[in-house]
Amino acid sequence: MEILKGVHLIDVYANSYVLIDDRLVLIDTSSEPDAKTILRYLEKAKIRPRDLATIFITHVHPDHVSGLARLKQDATGTKVAASRVEADFISKKRVYDGPPGAAHQRHPGTPVDVVLEDGQAYDGLKVIYTPGHTRGSISLLDESRSLLIAGDAANNEKALSTMDDVYNVDPRQHRESIRKLATLHFDNAVFGHGKPITGGASAQFVALAKRL
Ligand SMILES: [Zn+2]
Repeated sequence: MEILKGVHLIDVYANSYVLIDDRLVLIDTSSEPDAKTILRYLEKAKIRPRDLATIFITHVHPDHVSGLARLKQDATGTKVAASRVEADFISKKRVYDGPPGAAHQRHPGTPVDVVLEDGQAYDGLKVIYTPGHTRGSISLLDESRSLLIAGDAANNEKALSTMDDVYNVDPRQHRESIRKLATLHFDNAVFGHGKPITGGASAQFVALAKRL
């Protein structure tokens, strides 16, 4: 569904997002079976996978990265972008050992073409390192839409909150990352898990940061 102009939420286990601008980008790829759902969504939206400029992976958890290998079969020429830390885990140069554990890292290693640095802009999105959930998690800021794409830096399932610490590699750092996001201004926010916030989003982050 289109939640803001040019922002499509694909409702799979961990939400994926397509941004339609002068360049097409996909953010996160959910689980392996969900790759088919994402491909069907793209087809309905008349987007050819190979026309995607970039697939951003916010972090290496299986429910965000496992659809990547399947999508890349069709998304020939599409670049994969992730943080420096997460790139090694996505490509399987190293196996991610944080929760839920290395045994869950079953995705085929996929090379990362674009290593994103904190504060860098790429394909219209500003990269914000938000470690703590995994070692190299990122969020992305779409300044043109005043939209934060949080990834799993927070969730909005019942209300805006921290991720369950069972899944956070460093709970203290996870909270620091939420405080970092609370220093930014954005009206809207979307999440890997939970409903979008349209309007007043950064005020909710400020309120959450105060409670941590
Ligand atoms: Zn996660």
